[in-house]
Amino acid sequence: MGFFEQDSQEDRNKERYMKLRADYHIHSTYSRNRHGKSTIEEIAARAYEMGLEEIAITDHGPGHYMFGIKRSLMGEAKDIIKKTQKKYPNMKILYGIEANILDYEGTTDIDGEVMEHCDIILCGFHLGALFSTAGDFWNFLVKNKFAGYNKRLYSVMVEKNTRAVVKAMNKYKIDILTHPGDKIPVDIDMIAQTAEKMKILLEINNSHGHLNRDEIMKAAKYDVRFVIGSDSHTKESVGHFENALKAAVEAGLDLSRIINLEV
Ligand SMILES: [Zn+2]
Ligand SMILES: [Zn+2]
Repeated sequence: MGFFEQDSQEDRNKERYMKLRADYHIHSTYSRNRHGKSTIEEIAARAYEMGLEEIAITDHGPGHYMFGIKRSLMGEAKDIIKKTQKKYPNMKILYGIEANILDYEGTTDIDGEVMEHCDIILCGFHLGALFSTAGDFWNFLVKNKFAGYNKRLYSVMVEKNTRAVVKAMNKYKIDILTHPGDKIPVDIDMIAQTAEKMKILLEINNSHGHLNRDEIMKAAKYDVRFVIGSDSHTKESVGHFENALKAAVEAGLDLSRIINLEV
């Protein structure tokens, strides 16, 4: 066996002993229309069984027209979390939300009520968001779709999309920016610069493939930290991190920069 082969075997062994300490991106049945399949109680039981120290239940924000949590149920979800927390004193359960970017001004569905309920705020771009204006709907959905076929339009859209995300990052107290680069193309350098300034964690999403290897390499040039999110919609995938870790390793990222990975 050659030197390099041995090296990679060692790396593989190291990866095998790694685990997630916390999973901050989990959808429950409070993400509407059966988008999340498991209840908060089922998720907590599974996470506890896996030995996670901390989890966050982060259903889609109310601005998602298909899967968003009903605003009137946020209090109920929080009460269930409080009750469930008592059953697992050694595992912290946070209540959060995965908010939506709603327009090119960087408006999101994070409002006073959301802030009041939530311990942690995630935010990302989703195609099912209730866009604030018809023009933004057109830009986000239609133009971004065509941008894939037209180089000039692509660069225009990257600039516009990035501006929207950066504005949202500057405007709101966001803890984690979810799957940057997913759904719409963005300028990762600009996003990472803003994340550095605003101390926002960049997510390496285990389900969506973003940040991907190249995006991690770009973002790593800035003084930012990363978080792996399972983005699980069923209890079975809570705490899963293999795809995200693979991308981070391939990007050559110093794994101690991933805040919820136990190395
Ligand atoms: Zn998402
Ligand atoms: Zn999600």
